[in-house]
Amino acid sequence: MERPDATAPPGAGGSPTAAVAEPDRRLAARRRAFDRLSAEIRRCTRCSLSLGRTRAVVYRGSIAPRVVFVGEAPGAEEDRLGVPFVGRSGQLLDGAIERLGPPLGEFGVLNLLKCRPPENRFDPAAARTCRPYLDRQLSLLEPRALVSLGARALVALDPAAPPVLRSAGTPRPLEGRWLFPLVHPAAALRSTALRRRWEQDVDRLGAWLASPAFETL
Ligand code: URA
Repeated sequence: MERPDATAPPGAGGSPTAAVAEPDRRLAARRRAFDRLSAEIRRCTRCSLSLGRTRAVVYRGSIAPRVVFVGEAPGAEEDRLGVPFVGRSGQLLDGAIERLGPPLGEFGVLNLLKCRPPENRFDPAAARTCRPYLDRQLSLLEPRALVSLGARALVALDPAAPPVLRSAGTPRPLEGRWLFPLVHPAAALRSTALRRRWEQDVDRLGAWLASPAFETL
């Protein structure tokens, strides 16, 4: 799953060994910083959600992702296992990831909230408290694109975006990277119309990832 990045162009005047070692060193440093941040999140007691969690749910995926999927908050399965999107919504997401195939490349999955809210009710105040963790994760991971899952992730990432049903399926530039909104997989599991919309927009995401437009910005 990890991009070794060992084929980077040789640096001016550097030996081939140094040229290969440098990206490896940068990746290793990134991994150490990300591991430190993940440990900090797992110990977090900044809001009351920490009192009810079994495990904080930090991240799954590559340390060098091209695309990061951003969900809302962990549910019961995620809280139990400490891994994002491992319940029914996660199965739908994983099916989409499989369908996207090689054009997706390296990817990661995380949530706005790192701890499960009671009764799975999204907690905007906790999301504001948690936000610096998301920003620090993204600044370390440096993905080219974010895929927001649902309205809450869309609004949190881009408050100026049109409502999710108008935004979904169309990439938007966002602070030097792309944002590609999708409806939430849980909503797609509840409604036939939204399931159709989910499938259609995942296909649009696949076509866009394979197009030269993705490499711009
Ligand atoms: N599981 C997650 O990890 N996030 C969601 O938003 C929904 C289910």
